[in-house]
Amino acid sequence: MGGGEDMEEQTKRQRVREYLLEGRPLSGLEALRMFGVYRLSHIIHLLRNNGFIVHTTRKGHENYAVYTVVCNDCKIGGQPLIELRDGGAVCEECEKRRTKGYVH
Ligand SMILES: [Zn+2]
Repeated sequence: MGGGEDMEEQTKRQRVREYLLEGRPLSGLEALRMFGVYRLSHIIHLLRNNGFIVHTTRKGHENYAVYTVVCNDCKIGGQPLIELRDGGAVCEECEKRRTKGYVH
């Protein structure tokens, strides 16, 4: 098992994930052009299952979906996010706040 296609799909998923974690919005068409991903909605589904908060906005006459991953704590998008061990991601500010909370 472990065919080359699976690896390729995994790599694509990883690249989409990294792109979204930079706080950048991504549409299905952009995902196809930039990463060769046909089913962005599936990747978004997986991300949500992993605790990420993904906002969907509708754009254009076609009403196509644009996805943005936002911070788990402050729910603000458009900024670089740091992945959490237990799923999801937070912005730098919230990361600091969380770290402080653990140190007494
Ligand atoms: Zn935040």
